[in-house]
Amino acid sequence: MTPTRYDIAIIGGGPIGAALALALPSKGLRICVLANNEPQNKALRPIALSHGSQLLLERLGLWHALSPQTTKILNIHISEKHALAAVTIKAQELQLPALGYVLDYSLLSQCLSQSAQKAHPDFRLGCKVLSLAPHEGGATVHYLEENQAQSLNCRLVIVADGGALINDNPTQHVDYQQCALTARIGCDHPQPQKAFERFCQEGPVALLPFGEDLALVGTVSQERAEMLMRAEPPIFLQWVQSCFGSRLGKFTHLADRATFPLTLHYQKPGYAHLSKTPIIRIGNAAQRLHPVAGQGLNLGLRDAWALARFIQTTEPEALGSAVTRHQFEKIRHSDRTASIAFTHGLVRLFSNDWPILTQARRGALFTLACFSPARNWLAQRMMHGVYG
Ligand SMILES: Cc1cc2nc3c(=O)[nH]c(=O)nc-3n(C[C@H](O)[C@H](O)[C@H](O)COP(=O)(O)OP(=O)(O)OC[C@H]3O[C@@H](n4cnc5c(N)ncnc54)[C@H](O)[C@@H]3O)c2cc1C
Repeated sequence: MTPTRYDIAIIGGGPIGAALALALPSKGLRICVLANNEPQNKALRPIALSHGSQLLLERLGLWHALSPQTTKILNIHISEKHALAAVTIKAQELQLPALGYVLDYSLLSQCLSQSAQKAHPDFRLGCKVLSLAPHEGGATVHYLEENQAQSLNCRLVIVADGGALINDNPTQHVDYQQCALTARIGCDHPQPQKAFERFCQEGPVALLPFGEDLALVGTVSQERAEMLMRAEPPIFLQWVQSCFGSRLGKFTHLADRATFPLTLHYQKPGYAHLSKTPIIRIGNAAQRLHPVAGQGLNLGLRDAWALARFIQTTEPEALGSAVTRHQFEKIRHSDRTASIAFTHGLVRLFSNDWPILTQARRGALFTLACFSPARNWLAQRMMHGVYG
């Protein structure tokens, strides 16, 4: 049987694949989404959506449903343990309704996926893509659907699989040799709608407002993560207390602990010309970042939005060509490179005990504390990327 032919096949129905499917027109182009709905990791992954992402979700018609399930961030307090300088970035100073919005990954993913399923009849759940094979004018996608081997042909494959699919993609890779530790915690002196980013010896630790509670996202060594995952709740809370001091009172309860490995992973520039397969990668499939400053999903949403707009102005026959793919790579280059450099730079600057770096970060915090243009620059970067 000849495989079905599509213009575009999107691999992955996570937040970024689903957002792209929603942003693309359902008429005019033949689009298929292959979404692996294996039982998802339900571990708590608090996501801070930027103001820019909120605007994109509003354009996709989802904000109305999501908004009641999010917690607003009105202020962000940034400080370093054992140092005096601290900075507070305020939504009010920037004349914004909020600096960001916190919600759990699985809720966002589910909402995007369900809406995309309604918009696209060929959004197929339960499909695990196994391999891609280039051919004249496109590619064949081989996948399993309910354990049956299937294939389809398309002009362009958009990979939004979070970086899971192995192929010929040459990437840059940094293993931070650390874990992200997440948990839901409570305290007896809450400061509603305020987020805290604290740079500690081992790495940054964030507390995000999360309904009535706080969501912790900490960066720790693998050994400490293992110890804290096993520890009795009072020991865990004592560690949080040692990071944040008494500004939130006493930390009182703990739930939903989880860990995630931390790596930086991104494709080398010029990939479009090197790859024989007509692929465009977006979201974590193009770059997986450290969660410090909450950039990964926000950057992925900008990828999806930019790609949808780019596709609408591209002739269907040209979709998979190396020239077209290279053009898209160029469009996203600045935002991606700046976000990678910003995130990686923060990790290196704030997770290091070298005296010269200690001076540099104290100088940076002092500058941010004293000069509102510097604070505005940082806030814009966190909310919109370079060209958001
Ligand atoms: C602890 C933590 C905190 C974070 N906090 C933030 C934050 O505050 N703000 C922020 O912007 N980002 C944050 N991130 C990053 C964010 O989670 C990711 O950037 C985002 O999930 C990427 O979305 P994605 O759709 O590209 O990939 P994923 O979320 O990984 O989704 C990929 C999808 O593809 C599917 N798939 C995989 N392989 C296949 C296959 N072969 N066939 C078919 N389907 C397949 C998967 O099942 C999944 O549904 C955080 C990350 C971590 C670990």
